[in-house]
Amino acid sequence: MESRCPLSSEHLENMIVGIDIGATWTRVGVVTGMRVERVHRCRTAELSRHAPFAFVGGRAAATQQEPFASTGFPPLARQAPHPPSTAEEFASGLAERVRNLLAEGASASPATSGHDGQTLTAVGVAVPGTIDRASGVVMRAVNLPFLDGFPLADRIAQSLGCPVTLLTDAEATTWGEYMSLDPRPARFVHLRLGTGVACGILIDGAFVPLDEPRATHAPTLIVDRSESARPCACGLRGCLETIASGPALLRLAGFDDPLSDLAMLRQRWLQGDRAARVAIDEAAAAIGVALTALHGRFRFEAVSIGGGVIAHLPELVAPAREAVSPTVGGQRVRTARLGDNAGIVGAAHAAENSISV
Ligand SMILES: [Zn+2]
Repeated sequence: MESRCPLSSEHLENMIVGIDIGATWTRVGVVTGMRVERVHRCRTAELSRHAPFAFVGGRAAATQQEPFASTGFPPLARQAPHPPSTAEEFASGLAERVRNLLAEGASASPATSGHDGQTLTAVGVAVPGTIDRASGVVMRAVNLPFLDGFPLADRIAQSLGCPVTLLTDAEATTWGEYMSLDPRPARFVHLRLGTGVACGILIDGAFVPLDEPRATHAPTLIVDRSESARPCACGLRGCLETIASGPALLRLAGFDDPLSDLAMLRQRWLQGDRAARVAIDEAAAAIGVALTALHGRFRFEAVSIGGGVIAHLPELVAPAREAVSPTVGGQRVRTARLGDNAGIVGAAHAAENSISV
């Protein structure tokens, strides 16, 4: 049953919660305006006791196709069949995290959370995969396969008693970054480089599909069309992800230690390690190629680059900007502003928008 609180927008801001589900970590935050008031982070695996998580930060598709030594990330254990209750448990786990977050706020700050009208208004959920927005169903989540076909929005809405909006993680981070800009560009692109690579395109505030590849990456993001282009987990060759994702950077820099990470790569790079330099230079050039292609197609006014790779290697942005300067104009390229919070902010704002229309 829906129990939307009475809104008195002249006096109070809506209390919106954003949930950013990642392959490894899930973050839940209360968002007011552009501010993330409180955030809880938990391991995604802890949300359901039956979930077949036996990996740490790896991608199912990548690890299935490539041996561990070549990805630099731990292998995914063979996934056992999961009971049908897994997705239900996962949804309950998420709702419980939201309730805990709100309860904490109420006890810590009764002046804001205990006030009439300051109960939960809406929830936005960012999912790492494809979704059916209208029905709130997860279509395909490569790293969370038990969610495939699951009506996640409905289940969380039933549990929390408020409207729930589902969107992809690429849409959520893009929307979050876009909302943080003033003025907001009419043509905006956000490129997120993490364990995978994702891209969101907004024209006049509306998402534009990037080839809608579903099972594969967008051909616009193919940066190497040579004979030696590397195979990608998506099935294509030469995707930006094969060069500028976290696992790709580690692999290209020659890391074969299962515990290696991007902080170690940066350390080596700062020490003048040649392989690290080559990997980072190649990634920067590849980002430049991708941005040039995106600009050729969408004529964006501004692009932001973010994600875990940029968080660890912010130095990648300057050479990527330089690489596109002659054609795109370097001033259009900037580092994402919201960092880890972009998904939470974007999901929350999308939820707020969907209840106000
Ligand atoms: Zn690909």
